[in-house]
Amino acid sequence: MDKKIVNVGDIEIGKRPVIIAGPCSIEGEQAFIDEVKFLYSRGIRLIRGGAYKPRTSPYSFQGLGDDGLRIIKTAKSLYDIYVVSEVMDPRDIERVYEVCDVLQIGSRNMANYSLLKEIGRQDKPVFLKRGMSATIEEWLLAAEYIAKGGNEDIILCERGIRTFETYTRNTLDLSAVPAVHELSPYPVIVDPSHGTGKRSMILPMSKAAIACGADGIMVEVHPNPEKALSDGEQSLDYMEFEKLIDEISDH
Ligand code: PEP
Ligand code: MN
Repeated sequence: MDKKIVNVGDIEIGKRPVIIAGPCSIEGEQAFIDEVKFLYSRGIRLIRGGAYKPRTSPYSFQGLGDDGLRIIKTAKSLYDIYVVSEVMDPRDIERVYEVCDVLQIGSRNMANYSLLKEIGRQDKPVFLKRGMSATIEEWLLAAEYIAKGGNEDIILCERGIRTFETYTRNTLDLSAVPAVHELSPYPVIVDPSHGTGKRSMILPMSKAAIACGADGIMVEVHPNPEKALSDGEQSLDYMEFEKLIDEISDH
C-alpha cells in the first residue's frame, strides 16, 4: 500500500521518524513558553500541549481551555513551531483550528462519530489516538470516518490499550505499528508516556517503537514532573529528554 506522507508545515510525517514533545497540559503562559524555548533549542518543532483536557476525574485539573489556546498562539508567534492539541467537542473545533496546526482526537473520543465527521471536514492534519479499548480495525474505521469527510491528512497514534495488566497504566501495543503499516496508508506515531504511565519506560519503549517502524514518538516532557498538574509520573524532565533525543538519533 502506498504510504501517505502527512505534511505539517515543512515537516513530513511518514518519512523519517519525528519527535513530538511537550507538556501534558498547558499550565501557564511563561511555563509553556519556557518549555517551548527548551524544546526548540534541542531541535524540536512539533510541540504538544493540551488546552482542553479529557480527565478521568471531574475533580482533576481540566486544562486552561481558551486561555490555553491564547498561550499556544503567543508561543507560535515567538518560535517557528507547530502545535498539536486536543479537540474534545465539535463546538471547540473552530477555535482550536484557528490556533493549532494538528487537531488531536484523544483516546476517549476515538469513537465519537459526530466529532470524527466534523473533523473530516477540516483542512488541517488530524492526530487520531487509538481508543483504549479499540481493536486495530475499529481504530482504522474511525480514521475512515475522517477520510470520508475529505480529510486524508491523518496521523495515527498508538497510546496503549487496556489489558489485565495493572503494573503499567496501559499495555503499549507495538504490534499495532506493523499492523497499521500493512493495513493502512497512514503514518503511525507511538506515545510511550500514556502507553506505559511510567517515566522509566519511556526511553526503552521509544527505542522499541522506532525499531518496529513507527513514524515517530510523542512524549510528555515537564521541567519539574513532580509538580506537573497532569501526568507528571509519565513525563520526562529536561535531562531525561536530552538523553532520549541522543539515544533515538543514534538509532
Ligand atoms: C493526551 O495525549 O493528552 C491524552 C489525553 O492522551 P490519551 O487521549 O491517549 O489518553
Ligand atoms: Mn497526558
